[in-house]
Amino acid sequence: MKERREYYKNLKPESLMMSFGYKPEWSEGSVKSPIFQTSTFAFTSAEEGKAHFELAYGKRELGPSEEPGLVYTRINNPDLEILEDRLCLWDGAEACAVFASGMAAIATTLMEFLEPGDLVLFSEPLYGGTDHVLRHFLPKMGVTAVSFMPGHTTEDIRRILRKSGKEKELAMIYIESPANPTNDLIDIGMCVKLAREFSRPDRHVLTAMDNTFLGPVFSHPLQFGIDLVLYSATKYIGGHSDVIAGACLGSTALISRVRKLRSFLGTMAGAHTGWLLMRSLETLKPRMTLQNENAQKIAAWLSGHPKVAKVYYPGLLKESDPQYRIFKEQCLAPGAMISFDVFGGEREAFRLLNSLKMIKLAVSLGSTESLAEHPYSMTHCGVDDAVKKEIGITDKMIRLSVGIEAAEDIIWDLEQALARVETPGSTTISRAETEPLTA
Ligand SMILES: *Cc1c(COP(=O)(O)O)cnc(C)c1O
Repeated sequence: MKERREYYKNLKPESLMMSFGYKPEWSEGSVKSPIFQTSTFAFTSAEEGKAHFELAYGKRELGPSEEPGLVYTRINNPDLEILEDRLCLWDGAEACAVFASGMAAIATTLMEFLEPGDLVLFSEPLYGGTDHVLRHFLPKMGVTAVSFMPGHTTEDIRRILRKSGKEKELAMIYIESPANPTNDLIDIGMCVKLAREFSRPDRHVLTAMDNTFLGPVFSHPLQFGIDLVLYSATKYIGGHSDVIAGACLGSTALISRVRKLRSFLGTMAGAHTGWLLMRSLETLKPRMTLQNENAQKIAAWLSGHPKVAKVYYPGLLKESDPQYRIFKEQCLAPGAMISFDVFGGEREAFRLLNSLKMIKLAVSLGSTESLAEHPYSMTHCGVDDAVKKEIGITDKMIRLSVGIEAAEDIIWDLEQALARVETPGSTTISRAETEPLTA
């Protein structure tokens, strides 16, 4: 594999998604990798089986020209290995481990690197499942979790760590940026610096970042010193609302630990999932590029609509906003997640959602079709009311995941739905509805 990386090193990831890490001669000339739907792999000799197991159990290091041998699908499978090699290209990572879900990736990674007595610092808000693992599951393992808010400075965070009384036990800083659903950006550079500040010679404070919203095309946290990048591959990487998967990327040393625990917990993805994600990766860049272009048009249109009170979108940040600097530093594009407030509250937000014709009313994101939901009562229903209030998740907010439909059709759908919303103070309902959809 090393030689192949050398050979391909000048090509862009999007050029390599159709071929990297796989040779047709391995499978009767098949241009596409088959689905290796097998639980176990035959050894050519008992000696080979022994050698493969020594590696799988970490009893010896990989030799210079050796590849880990195929043993059993809970440990490795060609569809997962090829997928992992391809995912590495986007983030410039040394290694990757793919999982049965984003939550499997996150939970396995946290369990590998946190021990009883440790402190983990996390940014708010986090994806609900991650929030639950940190607040409710890790304490059962003796791990304490404390949080900071978007906009908090280094000094604010030092104070939070001191107040916890466990600053010396800080083991990991875990962030998610942009934060869901407000699109607040967390400063990666600041977190990496803090991790260095709290590291000791015998203990490196790890940094981990959930890169689901902008990665792997528009955000590359490893380049800014983050140790571990996590994904719900269910979202942009999968991209078609038809598969659940996750991934963790980083250095070979860290990922081999993650992979080892993955094989003992059995949280790896199946071969069919691996194959589906390889298919998805071939169109990752064009999908995300088009979604990003669509979203910029839609965000601009929404911000001029009289029934829309506020639009939360990194592409609309003003230079005077402190978030603007973070955006310029660490994001390659604003992405395709837009949140906006309508004038009013739940009644008006629900009226809009119930009036949509083409855009699906559903949670999840990153898919080819546009999806809209109500964070306050849906994805973020489990978040503390005080936290919701502090970060500005109110009952008048809608979250939109922009798909690859024609931008004017998405705007048409939003326009006709907004026309049905009676905002407080407005007496007439405009009849902006145009022709119905033909398909
Ligand atoms: C969906 C999501 C997850 C969880 O991923 P699953 O694939 O649903 O397990 C984690 N983080 C973020 C930001 C997500 O959007």
